[in-house]
Order: sequence, then structure tokens, then C-alpha cells
Amino acid sequence: MSDSHTNQVLRSIPAMDELLATPWATECSRSLGRETVKHIITETLDHIREEIRKGTPIPVPLEELAVRRAKHVLHRRMSSTLRPVINATGVIVHTNLGRSPLASEALRAVHEIAGAYSTLEYSLEKGGRGGRNDHVEWSICRLSGAEAALVVNNNAAAVLLALSATAAGREVIVSCGELVEIGDSFRIPEILAFSGATMRAVGCTNASRISDYRKAITENTAVLLKIHPSNYRIQGFVTSTPREELSRLAASRNLVFLEDLGSGLLSQLETPFAHREHSVRDCLKAGSSIVTFSGDKLLGGPQIGVIAGSKQLIDKMKGHQLLRALRVDKMTLAAFDASLRLYLSGRRSDIPVIRMIEMDNRTLRKKARALCRMLQGTLAKLNAHDCILSVVETCDAVGGGSYPTDILPGFGVAISPGSTGAETLAAHLRAARIPVIPGIRDNRVILHVRTLLPGDEKAIAASFAEASNKGGA
Ligand SMILES: *Cc1c(COP(=O)(O)O)cnc(C)c1O
Repeated sequence: MSDSHTNQVLRSIPAMDELLATPWATECSRSLGRETVKHIITETLDHIREEIRKGTPIPVPLEELAVRRAKHVLHRRMSSTLRPVINATGVIVHTNLGRSPLASEALRAVHEIAGAYSTLEYSLEKGGRGGRNDHVEWSICRLSGAEAALVVNNNAAAVLLALSATAAGREVIVSCGELVEIGDSFRIPEILAFSGATMRAVGCTNASRISDYRKAITENTAVLLKIHPSNYRIQGFVTSTPREELSRLAASRNLVFLEDLGSGLLSQLETPFAHREHSVRDCLKAGSSIVTFSGDKLLGGPQIGVIAGSKQLIDKMKGHQLLRALRVDKMTLAAFDASLRLYLSGRRSDIPVIRMIEMDNRTLRKKARALCRMLQGTLAKLNAHDCILSVVETCDAVGGGSYPTDILPGFGVAISPGSTGAETLAAHLRAARIPVIPGIRDNRVILHVRTLLPGDEKAIAASFAEASNKGGA
């Protein structure tokens, strides 16, 4: 392209003020502010100018192109990217979808505390300073049998604080088979290094015995660490050291026995494979000095990390500098307190995660049939005859690193989307006003009913209608 031609094309770029005065720009200004809209339009025009100078072929008319591109960016920025979705994957504690949905009591508590002043760090009795940990410590102790407890941001923070307070500058002995990576880059060796402790790994990947631990103890050893392998299970010949033995060894050598439990089971679940996870109480009873766990896995509360166990050790952590950086905010505390109270009052089945894990087959089948009928009604109205719906058996999962190899048999609705393909239909469902995240199996979209919350069925029908209109079904 010659220089004069380039200049001519550059001159035909629409003026900023013209674009800013259009009705759609005014509309966008209402949610983003005029300055932001101006900034985004400027960026769009600059980009087009640059492409013209480089000689990139560009569709004309330029005005249309500029408007289309600016609108695209503006519309994306106008709504939040953090949005509610419908979890139809059948994975209950789904890390990417926010782990545990909160119980309605927990939501009420957040609502009440978040928009007002509160007793977060205030004692009404003393008329002065109180401790934020005091609101939940007693309940945790009641529910787990611990002497004392402390909450922090999440379980990774709990492990970090527990190790920093008990083992900084000293050695921690851990089994090779437990040096796992959990979730998004929670790696035991790295957390250990952060805490200032030195790691001594003992045994082999599939076997570590009490004698391995005993031989590794030196004058500088402070902690025996046991880690729940979570999302990982070794099959075949496996020997791991029972916590009772570790606890006895730790006690006899004056060491701390620290256990990272992960999932935070407070009371046994009613599932055929319940015996595979130990509750916090079981571990403390078996002799763990300190147990750490998450609030938003099997416990079904908000994201929080709990450290429970020996009062003497917890007191040390309460005075640790690191705690200030890891402390929990008032909304989380309110939600956690309310969730714990559901356990205390014997209403743990009001916690969505617990209800979903324990949901029986008859209920699941009934839910799947009802959803199937509802979607058939939607299809009939749309005249979409290409698409076949049926009730199917599904493999659901607890998720969040608990019971990694156990399948929860469930039910769902399978959609055979005809010529469009399952991936396309799934993409349309994700793009709906209320996004639906389904499972996919054998080129069928599977809506697992176990993970649906009250009211989700209707929303799925609406999203399904939207998706079908796009030619997804
Ligand atoms: C999930 C998990 C963690 C990390 O907990 P967060 O609450 O995600 O910080 C650490 N250890 C174990 C064993 C886990 O299962």
C-alpha cells in the first residue's frame, strides 16, 4: 500500500467523539463510566490504525469494524466474569466451580454480618477488644474433641502456619508416598520449605514403616508429618504407617505429630465407602497432636483452614506473626460459624454437600425423570426433533480430593444432540444467560442431577431452550 493510500485510509477512521456520542456508547457508559468507555474506544481505534500502518488487510467500512470491535470488548467488560453457574457435572466438591455451595443458614449469617458493624473483634461483656477466633473455636472443639482450635484463610495456610510454629529451623519427617501435589500447586515439599523447616522424606513411594521414621529421627527433628494423599491413591502392594504407631513414636521422643487431613470430615457420612475417610475426631483420638483441614470440602462450609488439637501448640500458633497475614474475614467467619451450628444441632443434611453425597438412588432417579420430562416439554415447544433425551445411570464423584477412586452411582439426563455434536451443545449451554456445565460421554451431553440445587431444573430448561435456538440441539 502506498503512503498516500495509507494516509487516506487512516483519515477514514471514525472520530472518537462521534463514536462516544452514539446511543450504544451512552448505554455502556451507564455501567462502566464515560472515561472507561472512552479508553476502550481509543484502544480499539489505535489498534485499527496500527493494523493499517502494517498493511494488514482490514474489512471496510472502518466505522462498522470499529463499532463491532469496541462493542465486543465493552459488552465483555460490562458484566462480571464471576457468575453463578449450574453444576450438572455430578462432581460435588468441584474445585473449578467454587467447591461447596453454602447452606442457606450460612448465607443468612453472611448477609446479616457483612452489611453492618459486628462483634468481630469486640467483647460485649468487657466492652473492649475481643478475638475473632473466639466465635468458632468452641464449636470446632465440640465437634472434633480438640482442646483448642484456630482458623486461617484456607488449609494451605493452616499447614504453613502449623509447620512454621512447630518446625521452623528444624526437621520434619514425612513419608515419600505422601509427598503429593494437591489441587492447584499445593506441594508439600514447597510448603515445608516456606515454613523454614527441613524435610526428611522416608520410606518408598508405596511403603513406609514405623522403623523408617524411627531411624530418621535426630536431635534436630521436631515433627512427624502425615498427609492425606487426597486426589491420589496407590494401588497394589501398599504399606503405610498407622497413625496410632506414629503417635506413640512421636510421644515417646517428645515430637509433634501433625496431620494434614485435607477434607475435614466432622462426622461419618452415610455412603458405602464411608470407612475410607477418617473424621477429625478419629484422628485426634488416635493421637494426632494437631490436625489441619479445609472448611469447604467435605465439611461443606466456606473457604477456611482449621488447625485443631493440642492447646499448648495452638497457643503458640495464636501468637505467631504469620497469623496476621493469614487471618479470616468476617463474612467467612459468619458462614463458618453458621455451618458448624448446623452440625451441632444435628441438621447437617441442610448442608448442600452433605445432602448431595447422601442422596439416595430413588430420589436421584425421580429427579432425573422429572428433569427429562421438563426438557422434553421444552423440545416439543421448539420443534427440535433432531435431539433425543433419555434418563441414564451416571458415575458421580465426591471431588475435592476425597474418596478419589470411589464412584457415587447416580442418575442424569442424556441428550443426544443429533448432527450438531455434544461439544457444540455443551458450548451453547455454557454460553446461556445462566450457564450450565454438563458432563459429556459418548458424544452425549449428560446432565447429572445429584449436583443440582433447588430451582436449577427450571433454569436448565431455559438455558436448554436458548442453546437449542442457536442450533445446539
Ligand atoms: C485440599 C487439600 C489441601 C489444600 O487445602 P485448601 O483449603 O485448598 O488450601 C491441603 N492438603 C490436603 C491433604 C488437601 O486435601
